[in-house]
Amino acid sequence: MKLENRERRMTAKIANLEGFRPLKVPKVRKPREGLIGVSVSCHMCRNVYSFRVPKKSYLKWVNKEELIQVALPNLSVAERELLISKTCSGCYEKLTGMQ
Ligand SMILES: [Zn+2]
Repeated sequence: MKLENRERRMTAKIANLEGFRPLKVPKVRKPREGLIGVSVSCHMCRNVYSFRVPKKSYLKWVNKEELIQVALPNLSVAERELLISKTCSGCYEKLTGMQ
């Protein structure tokens, strides 16, 4: 009777393990962050500039959860300026040169 109980417990343990294992497999590989294309038209020269940004980070900036330099550190200063003020680097230089 005692033995039978132990056996049943062990069987239950094994069944538990087997039921658990597929769920417990850790996902080591980090999924690559999806990139999205962003097109910005300069409000001065009307040229359209396109570049790719990580979607999650971009949305964080759009939703004002993060500063652009924190969310999108890989963008150049000119690209960030374009996103923020819709002014391309050429026009920005003209603007600041006029001041
Ligand atoms: Zn421009």
